[in-house]
Amino acid sequence: MKNIGIIIELDEGKIKEINFGMITLARAPDSDLFAFVLDADVTAVREDLESYGITKIVDVALASDQRNNPAVRAKAIANGIKEYGIGAVFGLSTATGKDLLPRIAAQLEAPLVMDCFTVDLENNLAWTSRYSGKTSASIKVTGDIVVFGVRPNAVEPVKGQVSSRILKFDGSRIVSRGFKFVKRAAGDTSVKISLAEADVIISGGRGMKNGDNFSILSKCAEKLNGAVGASRAAVDSGWVPYSMQVGLTGEKVSPRVYIGCGISGSIQHFAGMKTSGLIIAINTDKHASLMADCDYSVLADVLELIPEITRHLENG
Ligand SMILES: Cc1cc2nc3c(=O)[nH]c(=O)nc-3n(C[C@H](O)[C@H](O)[C@H](O)COP(=O)(O)OP(=O)(O)OC[C@H]3O[C@@H](n4cnc5c(N)ncnc54)[C@H](O)[C@@H]3O)c2cc1C
Repeated sequence: MKNIGIIIELDEGKIKEINFGMITLARAPDSDLFAFVLDADVTAVREDLESYGITKIVDVALASDQRNNPAVRAKAIANGIKEYGIGAVFGLSTATGKDLLPRIAAQLEAPLVMDCFTVDLENNLAWTSRYSGKTSASIKVTGDIVVFGVRPNAVEPVKGQVSSRILKFDGSRIVSRGFKFVKRAAGDTSVKISLAEADVIISGGRGMKNGDNFSILSKCAEKLNGAVGASRAAVDSGWVPYSMQVGLTGEKVSPRVYIGCGISGSIQHFAGMKTSGLIIAINTDKHASLMADCDYSVLADVLELIPEITRHLENG
């Protein structure tokens, strides 16, 4: 029996939906699944975790002045992983995970594969994209402990009801000598749903013509309960912030539906969204790459079509 550790991401004490696909991927026959929950009310998330197969919930407590310190968070989880004899660790390849997982792997001197879209735990193999998504690599890792960063939404969540035990893990004496936490500042508060978590992403490129026109996409995304993304051309033009960039050097996303609006479909953009469930391209140029690399292409002016769709959604 292998003990598997899963680092749970929360948002204001609530569990993020993107955890459930990762837990589904980590489930293996005869394994004990340990969910590490940092500095939160574990009773509030217990029911959800049990419904996806978590058998042990590790309630990690940190000193109040250390809880935002990334080095302390990593050390606490690494210590817990050693304490419970865990052989494989799963976390999310989100902005938080990209900060936390390499620190944990370094603490454990364990191999790490980020942005995995699937993992074969029995053979310690992980699959991840290479060469701008043109090919995928299967990476074999060896070691007593191995760490995987899982691409959000890459795996369909499947329920598997169990009951769990809560284990208290005291990390309150862990302090960091290398880092001092100074301040926590809110990011863009207008963002209701992050790119990583969204089921629907509507992204704009140079075809949006200017930054103001992105409000057309925001209105439509709101109706679809989705998020707004962008190509690098839109970001580099200063129309939208970098946090919205999808692609090789931006966020890699796997929503159920991806709508590319006025985006030509460069390999660098495609690398970041090719694993989406359904890809719809809207472009005035039928020869644009994304019009071929998609499930449905719509030859239309995005500045006319999207407001029309939104109007129908509002009236519906
Ligand atoms: C190392 C490196 C990393 C990169 N990383 C990224 C990355 O992470 N993400 C990324 O996106 N790019 C990245 N790029 C940039 C990438 O190569 C492209 O330059 C960029 O993706 C182009 O953005 P775009 O499709 O919005 O613009 P364009 O290629 O200019 O395409 C605009 C499209 O809009 C269409 N259009 C115009 N008007 C309308 C309209 N009214 N209605 C509908 N369609 C319209 C046009 O027909 C055209 O197809 C990277 C490049 C490099 C070299």
